Amino acid sequence: MILWNIGETLSNLIYIDVNMITDNVKQAVILAGGEGTRLRPLTRNIPKPMAILNNRPFLEYLIELLRENGISEIVLLLGYLPEKIIQHFGDGSNYGINIKYSVGKITDQTGTRIKNAESILDDTFLLMYCDNYWPLNLKRLIEFYIEHKTLASTTVYANKDSMGEYGAENNICVDIDGYVLKYDKSRKSKDLNGVDIGFFIINKNVLALMPNHNFSFEEETLPLLVDKRQLSGYQTEHRYYYISTVENLKQTEQYLQLQKNIFLDRDGVINQKPPDKDYVKNWSEFNLLYGAIEAMRRLTQKGYDIYIVTNQRGIARGMMDEQDLRMIHDKLKEELEKHGARIKQIYYCPHGQDDGCECRKPKPGLLFRAASEHNINLTKAIFIGDDESDLQAGDTAGCKTILVTPERNLLHIVESILNSENTVGSQ
Ligand SMILES: [Mg+2]
Repeated sequence: MILWNIGETLSNLIYIDVNMITDNVKQAVILAGGEGTRLRPLTRNIPKPMAILNNRPFLEYLIELLRENGISEIVLLLGYLPEKIIQHFGDGSNYGINIKYSVGKITDQTGTRIKNAESILDDTFLLMYCDNYWPLNLKRLIEFYIEHKTLASTTVYANKDSMGEYGAENNICVDIDGYVLKYDKSRKSKDLNGVDIGFFIINKNVLALMPNHNFSFEEETLPLLVDKRQLSGYQTEHRYYYISTVENLKQTEQYLQLQKNIFLDRDGVINQKPPDKDYVKNWSEFNLLYGAIEAMRRLTQKGYDIYIVTNQRGIARGMMDEQDLRMIHDKLKEELEKHGARIKQIYYCPHGQDDGCECRKPKPGLLFRAASEHNINLTKAIFIGDDESDLQAGDTAGCKTILVTPERNLLHIVESILNSENTVGSQ
């Protein structure tokens, strides 16, 4: 047995058996006991996670997300109007998952709720807040957790765009190696570089660090873990959505609608790829590929939003300017509209290879920008490209990726997407 000393705690000396760090997290624990006062009057008669979005309680979306990630058991930590949740979800069998409950007082704080559930917690579990939605990829989270060998890891939104008008302020500082250096609930420190959004992986040994009084997990336990370098932070550029106020609940509702989004690379997918080191500099050089218009027409008809995501280094190299590019794209949209095909937006990277930008594929920056501007769930979107860099960008952003080849053009691919949609729909 490998024992790993993590130092003196308040009362104990704790050891972790490194072999016990598991890659098999099957239990999710959701903090769902708060009163949701900022969401009043909506939460006067229902607890916050039962707020209705697109005719379904928000908690159903979280449960679906967990089931898709291979979680088989959920522990709901309740306090405020617990019966409303228990009546709705029961033992979880209607949702394909096992649900257990731990019911405490309304006045219990988050840490106390976790501690009170100790007897039903797995050795390692996923801990979440009930009001945040983030496109969880549990496998990646667990890999990160195992690699960092900390007692707990959390998920940190990189917050590069400050999330626009609903901006969240940073409250955490993660170092370059992925360890959390500071957790500041007051959000006042100067050196913060992200927002803690929960989605923690927790080793049950953390409970031995917890005090006996009524306490907040964020305010007491997280700083203790940080002091001992036992909290790692998985950084993500995927926006997260939350329902703590009526305004952001509406945005979350839009995000959680059934989405049909397709990202297309341009050159080599829609139009003929120009020769190496040359670019499409005007409309007369833009040669649509066979089947491309028809493919986009069918997608439009089936309710897909189409986005083009393209590298246009010709701008950085001075062979064309952004005005030239805009004219090409206006013409393209006009031509497509004539045939009943619609492009929602075109995103392009004008930079050169050495400009160090975040948007030139294989980097996923353009995808994240589109996702943020249009509330797109990238993990449910498809990216179609003709180059390895397209696949890399799509994969990093969590999209499903498909490669155009000489044997399989855009129309072939779109036909198979729409066919599989019909098959799923008829089941
Ligand atoms: Mg291409």
